[in-house]
Amino acid sequence: MTTTTGDGETYDAVVIGAGYSGLAMLHHLREIGLRVLVVDAAAGIGGTWWANRYPGVRTDSEYLAYAFSFSREVREEWDWSERYPRGGEIRAYLEFVADRLDLRRDIRLGTRVERADHDGATNRWTVTLDDGSRLHATYLVSATGLLSRPVIPRIPGLETFAGPTYHSARWPHEGVSLAGKRVGLVGVGASGIQMLPELAAEAAHVTVFQRTPNYVLETTSPPVTQDELAALRARYDEVFERACRHPFGVPMEIPTRSALEVDDDERLRVFESRWEAGGFRFANECFTDLVSSPEASALASEFLRGKIREIVDDPRTAELLSPTTYTFMGKRPPTGHGYYAAFNRENVELVDVLRTPITRVTPRGVVVGDDEHELDMLVLATGFDAMTGALTAFDIVGRDGVTLRERWERDGLRTYLGISVHGFPNFFMSLGPQTPLSNLTVPVQRGAQWLQRAIAYARENDVAQLEATREAEEWWRAEVDRAARATVMYEEGRKAGAWFLGGNVPGKRQEMAVYLGGGHVYQDECARAEVEHYAGLRPGSGLPSAHVPAADAAPEAVRPAV
Ligand code: NAP
Repeated sequence: MTTTTGDGETYDAVVIGAGYSGLAMLHHLREIGLRVLVVDAAAGIGGTWWANRYPGVRTDSEYLAYAFSFSREVREEWDWSERYPRGGEIRAYLEFVADRLDLRRDIRLGTRVERADHDGATNRWTVTLDDGSRLHATYLVSATGLLSRPVIPRIPGLETFAGPTYHSARWPHEGVSLAGKRVGLVGVGASGIQMLPELAAEAAHVTVFQRTPNYVLETTSPPVTQDELAALRARYDEVFERACRHPFGVPMEIPTRSALEVDDDERLRVFESRWEAGGFRFANECFTDLVSSPEASALASEFLRGKIREIVDDPRTAELLSPTTYTFMGKRPPTGHGYYAAFNRENVELVDVLRTPITRVTPRGVVVGDDEHELDMLVLATGFDAMTGALTAFDIVGRDGVTLRERWERDGLRTYLGISVHGFPNFFMSLGPQTPLSNLTVPVQRGAQWLQRAIAYARENDVAQLEATREAEEWWRAEVDRAARATVMYEEGRKAGAWFLGGNVPGKRQEMAVYLGGGHVYQDECARAEVEHYAGLRPGSGLPSAHVPAADAAPEAVRPAV
């Protein structure tokens, strides 16, 4: 039941965003009897999967754990069709979830949040919507996605281009006719890499403007058989639990040997076998230390450069496609579905814009050095203002009138477990900054279930406000930093301008925005917070602050077993 006063509707919780996170939050908060409203600016359910419609869009995670495990009905009734489901199939899955769990009646689409203000006197949030109306709620939850605010590059003349220009995350929903078109693709991250083979299959010509090459993990996406679905259903909880106990949230084998303790033949055998297995299996199943040892990461890099030389016919193109300025895992590795092979096509051309940058865009095309590349269409697969972009794009105003944006600009990223920020009572984030880099369904589902229990605890124990203590924030900041420095992702990521360090957005503060100590260690920390009665969320409670790392978390936190 909604209460309406002259000043707007009142809920227990308002959730911003109707993707995976928003749906999980709505379901779990409803379960404890909360009146919840989810709002989303988009016209449909799906979040990132509503927005991203570019050709070739699909998951980089296998279907096995790219779904919720909490609903028996959903997992029994939903059939995945291929190993890496396409964007449309995931959107259909999320719509199915919304229908099956009767979520739609509490979701308001086409509704943008303009600002949210916490009022200390009434201890509630006021959420102002784009039509000027207001919502009130005790709890405010952001489910805005970690990669949802696109970055448009600052290239002189970009707005003068005569043809259409599309960002990967703003691809027209009705589709785009590519037949006979000369297409320019700027950006070779996960989005551009998925897109290239499909653009090339339809367009007359594709010019790929590459700045930093990636280590692409090629794979295939065979159909999922009925037997495979039955096998998954028979052990669904076990598969999801395995993903929860994995550093990167995937239900994969955890290797036991270092890349440095085996001889060259054995290392090659393992690399070949996991390359054949495809995608993230190479990153996760080869050896314990591709993420933690510079030498092991360098060996994997050399193997992957060899694969590029094997697949790409033209040696000069192969060389340009081979990363040399950073080693494997310096960027989040993308999954390819014929990416390298696409460069063997007559109609695909690679232009290196690292040594000779793009100087400007003209009405006719893109100028690199003195060469103008004539184009009919420009595609910007140029990424996102990751982790914080969606949260700082509008004003979330906490105690003392300070916005989240101002707080992080002033103090740097500060959160407790990526969930709560000091100065913002009863505000919680799903996939906030400083949560694990992971297959996201794991932290999404586990995060919603954790928040359900935290709010239930607060209500049962008359705790009016949950809000990170300063001590808990400082501890988590140090923990995020310590875990990051124990991986190659910190140093190599800085060299590569990785989004998880803010390096892809000009002027953004360079700091580690994800937790790299392992998703399983993160889950342990969340469990510990619960056992300690949420001490890290109760300033002034007299409870000991949760700022001492769990003794058993340390060994894995410094050496992710990936
Ligand atoms: P991204 O990884 O940040 O890649 C952006 C690309 O644009 C980079 O190649 C970058 O080059 C290039 N770029 C930016 N500005 C440029 C300029 N002025 N000139 C030339 N090149 C420029 O973005 P993304 O591909 O959208 O992927 C972001 C993340 O989203 C992924 O890492 C992944 O986590 C997620 N994602 C997931 C999936 C999936 O699971 N299916 C699919 C897509 C994306 P530099 O590297 O030199 O900066």
